[in-house]
Amino acid sequence: MRQPTTAPEFDPKLVARYDVAGPRYTSYPTAPQFHAGFDEAALRRAVDASNAGAAPLSLYVHVPFCFSPCFYCGCHRVITRDARKATEYLDYLEKELALLGPLFARGRPVHQLHLGGGTPSFLDIDHMQRLFAMLARHFDMDRAAGREWGIEIDPRGIDAAYMSELGRLGFNRLSVGIQDFDAAVQEAVNRVQSVEQTRDVLRAARGHGFTSASVDLIYGLPHQHAAGFARTLDQVIALGPDRVAIYGYAHLPHLFKAQQQIDEAHLPDAASRLALLGLAWEKLTTAGYVYVGMDHFARASDELVQAQQAGTLQRNFQGYSTHGDCDIVGLGVSAIGRIANTYNQNARDLVGYYAALDAGRLPVMKGMELSTDDIVRRELIGELMCHGTLDTRRFGARHDLVFADHFADDMERLAWLVDDGLVELRGAAINVTPRGRPLLRNIAMCFDAYLRKSTGAPRYSRTI
Ligand code: SF4
Repeated sequence: MRQPTTAPEFDPKLVARYDVAGPRYTSYPTAPQFHAGFDEAALRRAVDASNAGAAPLSLYVHVPFCFSPCFYCGCHRVITRDARKATEYLDYLEKELALLGPLFARGRPVHQLHLGGGTPSFLDIDHMQRLFAMLARHFDMDRAAGREWGIEIDPRGIDAAYMSELGRLGFNRLSVGIQDFDAAVQEAVNRVQSVEQTRDVLRAARGHGFTSASVDLIYGLPHQHAAGFARTLDQVIALGPDRVAIYGYAHLPHLFKAQQQIDEAHLPDAASRLALLGLAWEKLTTAGYVYVGMDHFARASDELVQAQQAGTLQRNFQGYSTHGDCDIVGLGVSAIGRIANTYNQNARDLVGYYAALDAGRLPVMKGMELSTDDIVRRELIGELMCHGTLDTRRFGARHDLVFADHFADDMERLAWLVDDGLVELRGAAINVTPRGRPLLRNIAMCFDAYLRKSTGAPRYSRTI
């Protein structure tokens, strides 16, 4: 068992100095490295090879539809109110499942299911029942108590009866987007959602078998200010979620068209963004939430905190996870999968996704097979992001390499961070210090072999 990770120290001046564009490392290598050379045949080979290890499965199903556009959004989504689009989409998911499902050996249990989007709760109960029947036809859906079946919910328009049906289907985790309860902020981002709507959904979930609730907040939105955000944080804490994620708004209007609706003049400046983040840290930790890493806070009793203390925490496309042993099967438009040492991503728009399936092909658009160096770096970055410590001697022995030689350039880059007190080198150990814990991705970036080669417009959000 590892030592519990030390509590972080939030030093605003230090954090401001490290505000650069960088990946979130929900995968390594990151999505911009995926390429079209990884095709359907490559995915088929990867799944076939993975059946020998028979790792359990984690299913990710992407539901791309939303009723209205939130202007800050950078997700792949389709804005519509037409329920027939969901029926058509399920027809195509069924085709994808019919092609992909039989590739996986029967007997590989599904330990984790996540419906993300878009807005998964765009699907009505009939759609949900149909989706579950389809999944059960092709995979061994493990309904044991330890299952982790999660869904992202937009509380606007959701009632207790809907949550009850979701509980009956077997969902036990929900994630709710809030961002900010302040009326001016909600108007500016086109997402008006009351505290009461959010509270009703969380209450109904708890009454219908959901054992974990997570909420998302965003700092750096237009019109956000300390007093309003403090009020939001107090309201969120009063709702009592098990997990709170707080993301920095990444204003990249050249990449995400909806963001062109946001008036840059109303965005808080760098100092104000930092103050908002500092406020969130203070309020959440004072309320008893533990900083897990990379924007995520959880109650001390939460599985994420326990996994971190036990040294079993992992990172994947949904953030931190306790099921890192699973192969991830991505289903639906733009979904990303991780099968053994490969990544794959489906076509990013409905036209391409439907066309591939109409032609009887898996809708893989790109992906990659990891090199030996990628695999080594993925593990290293995961260790630092999840546990904040690395024994370089053991790590080198495990991968049959001399750490100081293999990572000579990386350690040179890390030296700056050592000088700034973010990282401490003690014997063979690299330890993230309490001052370094809020800057995990800056530390991980030192070991990213692709980052130093990249050019052009920033593809990543800023780290603060
Ligand atoms: S933030 Fe969520 S609900 Fe809003 S447009 Fe994006 S995916 Fe849809």
